[in-house]
Amino acid sequence: MAGKLRLCAALAVACMAGCCSLGLGRLEPRSASEYEAHVAEVRDKAQPGFTVIAVPPFVVLGDGRPEDVRADAESIVGWGVRRLKADFFERDPSRIIDIWMFNGEESYLRNNSAIFGKSPISPYGYYSPCDRALIINIGLGGGTLIHEMVHAFIEANFPDCPTWFNEGLASLYEQPDDRDGHIHGRTNWRLARLQDAIELGKTPDLHAVMSSSRGEFYDDRRSGANYAAARYLLYYVQEKGLLVRYYKSFLASRQADPTGEATLLSVLGEQDLGTLQRKWEAFVRKLVFP
Ligand SMILES: [Zn+2]
Repeated sequence: MAGKLRLCAALAVACMAGCCSLGLGRLEPRSASEYEAHVAEVRDKAQPGFTVIAVPPFVVLGDGRPEDVRADAESIVGWGVRRLKADFFERDPSRIIDIWMFNGEESYLRNNSAIFGKSPISPYGYYSPCDRALIINIGLGGGTLIHEMVHAFIEANFPDCPTWFNEGLASLYEQPDDRDGHIHGRTNWRLARLQDAIELGKTPDLHAVMSSSRGEFYDDRRSGANYAAARYLLYYVQEKGLLVRYYKSFLASRQADPTGEATLLSVLGEQDLGTLQRKWEAFVRKLVFP
């Protein structure tokens, strides 16, 4: 998963330049004819053998067997879009975003070069705002796809979202599940290193994580710990049944509370981050994966 971290570091550099941000999204859904026109346009760009399907607000292009592409478009993209929009995101991205699902490593590497003229910055997949595309090696599963979909929706809905929350929410849902019709993040591979850090007395400080700049969050020496802390902080809030409420409160109060710390304490009913840090550490110690 080191590739995943390199991906986000690379994205951070790209986004700090502000070159390709799609900005605030749109409340009005696009018409079916807009998607039809876009599908026709990208069908020309795709090589023969790709299946192209509109799954608003995305268009999926896949070179797997047509029945597999259709199944993934529904069971991953459609499934995720419905749940993410129902609980979190009222705006669609300002432009239609293509989801390129390449069927395994060979296709992924070859088509990154042939279609986008570059080498992928991660073996799993990445969001490229400059290409208005999520570029995914679907042979490694759908977790990365949901992770990157969250980034596309955050960009459209939460201007200046701090990196810790953006990556925390994306990472939470890279191991998604359905709970009573709502998206729910399960424990995953990031837990072990966080539990190890707690045992060693080197738990990431929540204030430091939440107030970190992009550069600090993605710093090679800290990024693994920062991802784990951000993910399992939001997992903690999720398990309290307060994650959607926290997101909405944070979005509403982002100008007064740009890091989300004060809003988090308020939503959880905690007096200070030190108390929360102790409770969170005790909670994380008891988690299990798998
Ligand atoms: Zn990410």
